[in-house]
Amino acid sequence: MIQIKTVAHFNNPENRFIVITDTTGQMIHKVPLCRTVTQEKFEEKVILNQCKNGKYFDVNSYDEAKRQWGRIKTCDYCFN
Ligand SMILES: [Zn+2]
Repeated sequence: MIQIKTVAHFNNPENRFIVITDTTGQMIHKVPLCRTVTQEKFEEKVILNQCKNGKYFDVNSYDEAKRQWGRIKTCDYCFN
């Protein structure tokens, strides 16, 4: 699991999943990313707001995310 801190990393993740955390919890998405995960939102949360309300992580598996966060929501677009 690697925290994503740059736009370059966001656009070219190393692993198969992205987890986005925020004040209400965390959600896992598959790579390639669905339309709900945009560079614009990444830049707002990570660059402009300096991760104050949440972070992005490059994650190898759903199980890894489960171990890290316990409760995790799956994206409706990625996992249906
Ligand atoms: Zn998704």
